Amino acid sequence: MSTILVTGGAGYIGSHTSVELLNADNKVIVLDNLSNSSKVSVAAVQRLTNRDVEFIEGDIRNEDFLTDLLRAHKVDSVLHFAGLKAVGESVAQPLRYYDNNVQGTMCLLRAMQASSARNLVFSSSATVYGDPATVPITEDFPTGATNPYGQSKLMVEEILQDFHAAVKDTGEWGISILRYFNPVGAHISGQIGEDPNGIPNNLMPYISQVAVGKLPYLSVFGNDYATRDGTGVRDYIHVVDLAKGHLRALENLQRGPKLAIHNLGTGTGYSVLETLKAFEQASGKTIDYQFAQRRPGDIAECYANPERALKELGWQAEFGIERMCEDAWRWQSQYPDGFAS
Ligand code: NAD
Ligand code: UDP
Repeated sequence: MSTILVTGGAGYIGSHTSVELLNADNKVIVLDNLSNSSKVSVAAVQRLTNRDVEFIEGDIRNEDFLTDLLRAHKVDSVLHFAGLKAVGESVAQPLRYYDNNVQGTMCLLRAMQASSARNLVFSSSATVYGDPATVPITEDFPTGATNPYGQSKLMVEEILQDFHAAVKDTGEWGISILRYFNPVGAHISGQIGEDPNGIPNNLMPYISQVAVGKLPYLSVFGNDYATRDGTGVRDYIHVVDLAKGHLRALENLQRGPKLAIHNLGTGTGYSVLETLKAFEQASGKTIDYQFAQRRPGDIAECYANPERALKELGWQAEFGIERMCEDAWRWQSQYPDGFAS
């Protein structure tokens, strides 16, 4: 049993990962400033697992508080989800993004150094590949960011690599960088899920809200990409598969200190129209859509080569697009207003 601090654990991916950690008998402490989430999700995680979670409301940028917390709870590993993630907002408020995502991670690293926590799993993103020259994408592809959000992920990745190079001779530190593709879906119970603030930016929550009648139609951003049907192709991955990937990444660090980088994706891409059809099938609803201009900064195709994660972590995604849509719909239809329902 490990004692694990989950930063951002009240959020979408952190809450699903907490369920898997608790089901595997770990002790979980959630630290979240609730800037993009609700404590209700933590209560739901406890209910689903029938286990206690220690919830602490606080900010990762409060270094002294974080150091005390890591020491007091004798935390050995940190899963670091806390961060801001809206691309458009990051363009408008870059300083806020660098402060929260980059400075926040620096505080966390210093607090870990001042305590005995030595394993860190970091939530990175496929956005660090920018516009890839080809697909599928392997971890050794060149990186580059097209917006401050992506840049903040890349900067943290670089800081983690420099930091690991400096401390690796201690033989103590394990750092795992996980590059997520497009997390979607929800826990099978439909009691936790993605709960975006305001109008969703991402495809699956937008489709879900059209299906439940909260939004009139989907705008499909671009139908002239060089893809099967002209619409953008992405590697959607079920959030529970993603959550399980974190447990495998942690076990990999526990087998021996190292710095590791892995894609977490399915290896299969679906277009916007294919995703919409799969959601119609799962929900039994008709989803109206209209073609609209391309969204600035979007790329045509993005999907993973997930072989390294299979080889080194023994992990691969199990759920396909049908199950992703079924579970997203169960959550959306049970909780049309998310955790405020
Ligand atoms: P989320 O917003 O649901 O969860 C992030 C959580 O972190 C929220 O609960 C928020 O309140 C908390 N938080 C933010 N700043 C904080 C701070 N300074 N101190 C304490 N808590 C703070 O987002 P998510 O979708 O669960 O994403 C989790 C992580 O995965 C993020 O780092 C995100 O950038 C990354 N990621 C997400 C996606 C995606 O599509 N969802 C894709 C790639 C990477
Ligand atoms: N998309 C769309 N309409 C929307 C939201 C997204 O057509 O309202 C498209 C978008 O252009 C992309 C795909 O859906 O091709 C996935 O977009 P999302 O924002 O979910 O993920 P990302 O672009 O970050 O991979």
